[in-house]
Amino acid sequence: MRICQQCQCQMDEGYRLKVNTYGAIRIECGIPKADEIKVAICPSCGEMSMYHDKGMRK
Ligand SMILES: [Zn+2]
Repeated sequence: MRICQQCQCQMDEGYRLKVNTYGAIRIECGIPKADEIKVAICPSCGEMSMYHDKGMRK
């Protein structure tokens, strides 16, 4: 569980970062694959946290 650095709320996990063919970055709801960047969003203030689960990389 990730805690927001701004307001210490519990962040919503389960988002992933996607780059489309035009190079635009957007956030998608869904379970990230092992090599995708995971995103957590604070429901209270909108703070975003990006992270990568290194342990899953083989
Ligand atoms: Zn917050």
